[in-house]
Amino acid sequence: MICALTGGTGGAKFIQGLQAVLPPQELVIVVNTGDDLRWWGLHVSPDLDSVLYALAGCLSRERGWGLEGDTFHCLERMKELGAPAWFQLGDRDLATHLARTQLLAEGRPLSQATAKIAAAAGVGARILPMSDDPLATRVHTTDGRDLAFQEFFVRERCQPPVRAVHFLGAQDSRPAPGVLDAIAGAGAVLIAPSNPITSIGPILAVPGIRRALRETSAPVVAVSPIVGTAAVSGPAGALMAAHGLPVSIAGIAEAYADFLDVLIADPADAGSAAELRRPGLQVHCVPSIMKSDDDKAALARAALQLALPDLALANAP
Ligand code: GDP
Repeated sequence: MICALTGGTGGAKFIQGLQAVLPPQELVIVVNTGDDLRWWGLHVSPDLDSVLYALAGCLSRERGWGLEGDTFHCLERMKELGAPAWFQLGDRDLATHLARTQLLAEGRPLSQATAKIAAAAGVGARILPMSDDPLATRVHTTDGRDLAFQEFFVRERCQPPVRAVHFLGAQDSRPAPGVLDAIAGAGAVLIAPSNPITSIGPILAVPGIRRALRETSAPVVAVSPIVGTAAVSGPAGALMAAHGLPVSIAGIAEAYADFLDVLIADPADAGSAAELRRPGLQVHCVPSIMKSDDDKAALARAALQLALPDLALANAP
């Protein structure tokens, strides 16, 4: 069994690659829920949904979030009614949030609600929220504001300079059922090319998960979301800098230093990769920009082969 830790955009592409080369029952995906929000009365879990839609083959390619071909009539009507509309939910996407909110209101934990929705969507891999407990990623800006992650990311388009990121509720959160067992029992743990501060950071902030990564006998392999001196997309660079990490593959290695065995960097970083190699940390260069399905599968295959050289993989796509 392979355990992958991920956020929603870069991570979801990598997870699609894993699904292409592994039988679904061998894949357990631990997903960030620090970005979750209450919107129009609904429980929205953006990263869980991106992973779910990616695996169900219905993630919008154009937008990178939400459902392919979705419409936005409800959003337009909400605007007419004077409701906040800076966070966009598509019409068919709404069904996921309605179903999740209803399951939670019936008293089910998020992990069960997620399993039910994933099964209904025909997803064979196991999708686990990092925790059933609330943990909210908060962004403190240099102008003294304390923003919910989506306020920073979507409403303010990552523009405000950031002082620090905090995880509200982390101390009292517990790993969702199955998370620690998946890390301990995996043949390999893969950290997707996701934002190390706001996607993987919240997962590591759940007490017990970081220790499980340190203690697992499985190799822990991370794919860098940083190529050269910038993130492939999004605010990872600015957020890493705010946390005193170099914006480079060295910064990724530092963020995961206490548990990382193998770092996968893009060939563009071959020079820095050579400097970073040391006893206990392998650094391999593999093309890591995922545009096509072939790119995703090739990167996933490379990560798995570095972790488990004897593993038999499917040839798909
Ligand atoms: P979020 O929850 O939507 O922020 O999703 P993630 O954290 O999973 O994805 C964002 C990260 O993915 C950013 O830091 C990007 O640099 C990285 N990323 C996006 N596309 C790619 C890609 O094709 N290759 C690599 N290596 N990183 C990527």
